[in-house]
Amino acid sequence: GAHGRVFNFSAGPATLPVPVLEQTQSDLINYQGSGMSVMEMSHRGPEFTRIIEEAEADLRKLMEIPDNYKVLFLQGGASQQFSAIPFNLTQPEDTVDQAVTGSWSKKAAEEAGKYCKVNIAAKGDNKSVPDRSTWKLTPGARYLHYCDNETIQGVEFSGAPEVGDTLLVADMSSNFCSKPVDVSKYALIYAGAQKNIGPAGVVVVIVREDLVGKARADTPVTLDYKIMEGSLYNTPPCWSIYVCGLVFKHLLAAGGLSGVKANNDAKAKLVYDAIEASDGFYSSPVEPSVRSNMNIPFTIPSDAALEKEFLQEASKKNMVQLKGHRSVGGMRASVYNSMPLEGAQALADFMKDFQSRHCR
Ligand code: PLP
Repeated sequence: GAHGRVFNFSAGPATLPVPVLEQTQSDLINYQGSGMSVMEMSHRGPEFTRIIEEAEADLRKLMEIPDNYKVLFLQGGASQQFSAIPFNLTQPEDTVDQAVTGSWSKKAAEEAGKYCKVNIAAKGDNKSVPDRSTWKLTPGARYLHYCDNETIQGVEFSGAPEVGDTLLVADMSSNFCSKPVDVSKYALIYAGAQKNIGPAGVVVVIVREDLVGKARADTPVTLDYKIMEGSLYNTPPCWSIYVCGLVFKHLLAAGGLSGVKANNDAKAKLVYDAIEASDGFYSSPVEPSVRSNMNIPFTIPSDAALEKEFLQEASKKNMVQLKGHRSVGGMRASVYNSMPLEGAQALADFMKDFQSRHCR
């Protein structure tokens, strides 16, 4: 491809749009005549103030975030939010409900358990989402936490689960900005940047403003949303925020999130169709109604040695980082926003070709 780039199917950190990378390249040494790199300038100076304000405004436009929500750009990754959320939204005696549908929601539930009482309201089998009618919500729970897209298992919700008056908290790390979302259904949405919107080092938190300012007294200062509001209490991840801002502009120019979703639907369909058309040569472990548009695990059930060969051949054809997560095995194709349609098409074509040469 352009610049000698490969099709990178990594689950994260993931591929970024080439026009964005080109822009960062020219800004790297001298940001728009400032004589400084974004990495070298004051986070309170006029250039960076404009960068962070525009990033927030563009994200608000992109996701149609209502005015009564705060947007924070923080450090510590999505994993740190596993603890920041209970610190900000609970007291030690409170109960929170957690839906566990894969590895990440399980980790989030374990971490929350250090700080408050946890009820596992739903427990999946890593291949499906338990029917909503079977979920056991706790009356008076502070919130229900779930993971909108399980990156490792490839299990994705098609919309916000219905939880009545319970506050809804969502980990959207691996499908953030991949589709339109009704933010008003949520108390809090968080997402590490490194899949769909930028480099590692920044996590976006979108939180309803009435929930900010109620952190428990012993909350570490950098986890307290009230103190971190404005994202400038301490030095923010300037470079990562700058790149995310460029990606937001790129997505807006590409037609916003409904256009992004249409493109993602088309890419995922190419790969799932190749699995389905293979007569069982390839297999997806995930129940069809919850198959992720972002992370597509698949195996070659007849012969695990063929999986190794598949990965080697794919890599020779410049399709890389297709190895499945160690807990699932096989392959995993991550087709985040910045994976071009041609990448998904190349993978689907290769899957058919590989099958025709190895099917017995
Ligand atoms: N949640 C989900 C759904 C993820 O995919 C990941 C990372 O892959 C995380 C949380 C953890 O994110 P971080 O590495 O930013 O802490």
